[in-house]
Amino acid sequence: MKPDFDAILRVLDARKSGAQYAAKCPAHDDGHASLSLGKPNGKIVFKCHAGCTQDEIIVALRARGLWPNESRKQIVATYDYVNENGAIVFQVVRYEPKDFRQRRPDGIRRLDLESTWYQARSVQSSGSAHRG
Ligand SMILES: [Zn+2]
Repeated sequence: MKPDFDAILRVLDARKSGAQYAAKCPAHDDGHASLSLGKPNGKIVFKCHAGCTQDEIIVALRARGLWPNESRKQIVATYDYVNENGAIVFQVVRYEPKDFRQRRPDGIRRLDLESTWYQARSVQSSGSAHRG
């Protein structure tokens, strides 16, 4: 699902301003038309001249039903499968929206260096004993 640029223009009461549009920024209490928006190359872009970030504007649009929810999957849990020596054999990653993926050990080694949340839970390789 893609955001409906025309609906955004309508709801924000945007006015044409040169090649772009000007509207009151939905992300802050805007007394002026601080938001410039446009759709060059088919991609919607915003610029709030009061300093709101793109993310803040998107959150505000989403709250008004003008922007689709994030479709990118987010990692919500990881499960380490270890052998009797405690070495990771593989890792299962749970995503939201619900999906599961397995990671291979070479990918895990790299992740192990850069993350702390990663040590969420361990499961015996037999799958019979759950910790945590
Ligand atoms: Zn703003």
